[in-house]
Amino acid sequence: MTPVTVFRGKAVAVFGLGSSGLSTCAALAAGGAQVIAWDDQPAKITEAKAKGFVTKNLRALDWSAVAALVLAPGVPLTHPKPHWAAELAKKHGVETIGDIELFCRERRASVPNAPFVAITGTNGKSTTTALIAHILKSSDRDVEVGGNLGTPILALAPPALYRTHVIECSSFQIDLAPTLDPTVGVLLNITPDHLDRHGTMENYAAVKERLVARAFRSVIGVDDDYCGKIADRLEKAGNSVTLVSVERPLAEGVYLEGNNLILTGRGHKGVLASLGGIGSLRGAHNAQNAACAIMAASGVNVPPEHITAALKTFPGLAHRMEEIGHKGKVLFINDSKATNADSTEKALSSFAGGIFWILGGKAKDGGITSLKAFFPRIAKAYLIGEASEMFAAVLDGQVPYVKCGTLEIAVTEAAEDAARSKDAQPVVLLSPACASFDQFPNFEVRGDRFRELVHAIPGVDPMREVAA
Ligand code: ADP
Repeated sequence: MTPVTVFRGKAVAVFGLGSSGLSTCAALAAGGAQVIAWDDQPAKITEAKAKGFVTKNLRALDWSAVAALVLAPGVPLTHPKPHWAAELAKKHGVETIGDIELFCRERRASVPNAPFVAITGTNGKSTTTALIAHILKSSDRDVEVGGNLGTPILALAPPALYRTHVIECSSFQIDLAPTLDPTVGVLLNITPDHLDRHGTMENYAAVKERLVARAFRSVIGVDDDYCGKIADRLEKAGNSVTLVSVERPLAEGVYLEGNNLILTGRGHKGVLASLGGIGSLRGAHNAQNAACAIMAASGVNVPPEHITAALKTFPGLAHRMEEIGHKGKVLFINDSKATNADSTEKALSSFAGGIFWILGGKAKDGGITSLKAFFPRIAKAYLIGEASEMFAAVLDGQVPYVKCGTLEIAVTEAAEDAARSKDAQPVVLLSPACASFDQFPNFEVRGDRFRELVHAIPGVDPMREVAA
């Protein structure tokens, strides 16, 4: 845990008592603050009480004695409308912040030079965070990893000179961290998302920009206009920025050429890393993640040879293009996290052909029509769940398909067809382009079931488990 001492002796209200809220209460209390916890759900209040925290309805609080309101990132700060607790704080002139802000203040007050890498972007945050942590750990560095991914930031060990914090930040968390000042800030990409919570694209992009605006150095993927403009602004302001593109060569920065990441600038040009043969980093989207991770690791002084060695051993994250086994020449991939067509597009574009594609579930708006350009790569499609009829209509006449109904039947049929196929490396790919809720509680359970079914096929060689 990171005791937060910057509010020692002061009263701090904490609203939203999920795992990050409860660890915030503990961290503030350990640092000597007087914590007042509250939530809209009585069960959460009971839980906080059981942990020994003082609970009080914030509506009945003497706000003049409160130094700050710490809001959980799931609680609306501005859109669609501010939560009542945020409104009350504003009315009384009390600042509203989040746990990442508390960490930043504590770091500045205690060990301002403690290495701190913060990562955001619409897509690829978790993969990039996990990869940076993997590179640092492989280089024998003391690493604390968490934030939006896994452990809440204040539940991690405190900042220290020889310990690097690698922290995934969602836009909600950045919104609550007005003085976010990482050693290295990584901004991967910005595409429309969470507009219900941020109002407009411009507002969403402005929030994301805050992660890199105060960073000592930053790494920015410049393949979308929003990030391109942010990088321009930062460069003009004299900030240290590394640009990354996987779509076009850059005069200065890192770009993708074939399977190689090229580092160029100041009269030099050379291969930074080769991603060929690294199964956990297939596809241009992962090249973006890898390029940003490499530059972030080098930004906290990991030697280049350690970085290249670590890339080869990155196990990847579960349910994201996860290699789960092979049988003869057939490879089995679990991409259950792909709950919409955009994500599935990343998976389909990672293989030239021979794809035995398991898809379906609860369809999202637009279905799979945007994926038509990839249909020639599909050997056969196996439909499951509610979306079967709708998807069959799109595939009809273009891709051989079969309505399987369940994942169990789909796995059996796809595995048999792939084993008989003449492709050099057939792939049985679960990339559903759908939510899982019609048949599974969530995408993790769906992916775990897929892994179980694949591992039960006689003759399948299971691959090592990866991080959850
Ligand atoms: P996040 O944590 O931002 O949700 P993940 O690393 O968990 O991102 O990846 C989720 C999905 O997003 C992946 O399965 C993949 O389909 C897609 N994705 C990953 N990285 C990128 C990227 N750099 N650009 C676009 N899409 C990506």
